Amino acid sequence: MVRVNAINCRVYFAGKNQTQDQQDPVINAAMEELKKIKFNNDDVRYVKKLGAKPPFKNGHQAYDFIRNNDIQVKFMKLPSEDIHAQWDVQNKTIKINEKYKDTKSKAVVLAISESILHETGHAKDLDGDSSIQEEVNCLSLNSMAHRSLNAKDPGIFETSDASILQNGVNLYSSMYFNKDLTDLITKVRKSYGHLAAGDAKHPASNFATAIKNGEPNFVVTA
Ligand SMILES: [Zn+2]
Repeated sequence: MVRVNAINCRVYFAGKNQTQDQQDPVINAAMEELKKIKFNNDDVRYVKKLGAKPPFKNGHQAYDFIRNNDIQVKFMKLPSEDIHAQWDVQNKTIKINEKYKDTKSKAVVLAISESILHETGHAKDLDGDSSIQEEVNCLSLNSMAHRSLNAKDPGIFETSDASILQNGVNLYSSMYFNKDLTDLITKVRKSYGHLAAGDAKHPASNFATAIKNGEPNFVVTA
């Protein structure tokens, strides 16, 4: 039997948001999960005390920001296996590593929704620059989201050993909410230490400065 490959037979509708209805089903599922994400008030208080300024109050705000600004969310090839997601300002696109494209795992879908939330935090200032403070802010989003998703469905994140979980959202949430911040400081410094502590839109907190200067003994005060 001769099989004809379906070649990109997308139907485009006229008007704004024309491609949103043709999104990948996994992206669609992750966007639906994003919409439902709420943060625990104690977690919000904690990350603010640490020095973070979460760019959104909940997942729904991030979802609305994506829709209102015609931001695309797509699976794409990323420069490295270890990069789970990326904000591309030129193309107004949040790119998710295509290796998760056909996932059947609920945990991975939730991890993608957390990654979208993180990248939307970067998108919010409408530039392609970052700083340690901007990362601290965006990491607070996925770390808080992870805890509330885990509280809703305990153990869900232990059901997959995908890198986006083990080296991504699981890891960051546990480091962020650890009393001992050494691992978080070391990890953020390793990944983002080359960036400035802060920038005009994201003035550096004491925490961002401690990361920049490599002071692993930073403690939350006040
Ligand atoms: Zn980031």
